[in-house]
Amino acid sequence: MIRSNEHYAGLPGAYLFATVAARVRAHREQHPALPVISLGIGDVTRPLPPAVITALHTAVDEMASAASFKGYGPEQGYDFLREAIAAHDYRARGVQMDASDIFVSDGSKCDVANIQELFSLSCRVAVTDPVYPVYVDSNAMAGRAGRWTGDRWSDLIYLPCTEANDFVPDFPAAVPDIIYLCYPNNPTGTVLHRDALAAWVDYARRHGALIIYDAAYEAFIRDTEGDVPHSIFEIPGAEEVAVECRSFSKTAGFTGLRCAFTTIPAAVTIPGPDGARIRLQDMWKRRQSTKYNGCPYIVQRAAEAVYSPEGQEQVRATIAAYMANAARIRSGIEGMGLACYGGIHAPYIWVRTPDGMGSWEFFDLLLSRTSLVCTPGAGFGPSGEGYVRFTAFGSEADTTEALERLQELRL
Ligand code: PLP
Repeated sequence: MIRSNEHYAGLPGAYLFATVAARVRAHREQHPALPVISLGIGDVTRPLPPAVITALHTAVDEMASAASFKGYGPEQGYDFLREAIAAHDYRARGVQMDASDIFVSDGSKCDVANIQELFSLSCRVAVTDPVYPVYVDSNAMAGRAGRWTGDRWSDLIYLPCTEANDFVPDFPAAVPDIIYLCYPNNPTGTVLHRDALAAWVDYARRHGALIIYDAAYEAFIRDTEGDVPHSIFEIPGAEEVAVECRSFSKTAGFTGLRCAFTTIPAAVTIPGPDGARIRLQDMWKRRQSTKYNGCPYIVQRAAEAVYSPEGQEQVRATIAAYMANAARIRSGIEGMGLACYGGIHAPYIWVRTPDGMGSWEFFDLLLSRTSLVCTPGAGFGPSGEGYVRFTAFGSEADTTEALERLQELRL
């Protein structure tokens, strides 16, 4: 008789965003006069860059004639895009990377969720806390997280990132086999400076661990000193112990179009069942060619256009507009006397709640008194309690209006 995967039964409900939505709905019904503005959204609001639209039109036309029509493409991505990524995202930054180390997909969410399949169920997993929930839930679904204990999983190793350690994760007491790092970070908006990232690469090398580095927000790094790495592969030695996931979603507005890539250098090897080392990229190739048929041709042409000179200029302008929102949110929050983090190299602003208020308590206060929506930090993990997340992805007009309402809020 068929039976369900028991690890799904052990998952807590998708409680964060559902609860936020339910509370917002109830508030709207009670206070229809003041429109709700969300500073909680993680989706982009600005349209695709014109260079991307032009490339899409051209690629669509190619599909209309037998001579240029494309059916199934290579599962790992077309060479034109893999080459463009290797050249612009790596070699232009002084990082040696071959196009064959780059695996194009239709999103980082699936890549970061799927990659855990390549590892034994016995592997210990470490996540920074608070955390993008996909790393946690995908390991829980596979049966690698243990039991849900109400606010955490029994078998995961949590690396708290709070004001107390300046949002830089310390090495844990128990040694993990797989370490998820996400920088610039969702939800805290903070970054790891070169020395701190180098220390984690060194740690992984010493302990035979693998780092899964999510750099979905790399394009938001404003640093001009070169002290905030855009890629983990800027750290010497990372090419043997790290995998990097990147996405066009936030960089170029592809959240609805879907294109991303995972970089697995040929030098990354892990022990196989007999102890002999296996190339991780061979396992990923095997997985993807079995379970995935590739990102659409027209979408890959659109992604390629992001790297054209016009595409680069347009993407920079869009990101600058979001980051102008971020700067205004930061100064508005600081003006209220609240401590806030992030928002300098990332579109997220992580705000300490006033007077020891819980995340949900502050969320409710903001909603009831100003009709503004934020995301309660506790939903991202136990160390998120006492914080809320604001995002800079709203329109300029909404952000302006939100800031005016915040100024009127007397705490
Ligand atoms: N990684 C992080 C840290 C994210 O915040 C997100 C989306 O919010 C993703 C990955 C997902 O990206 P994609 O749209 O490419 O699936």
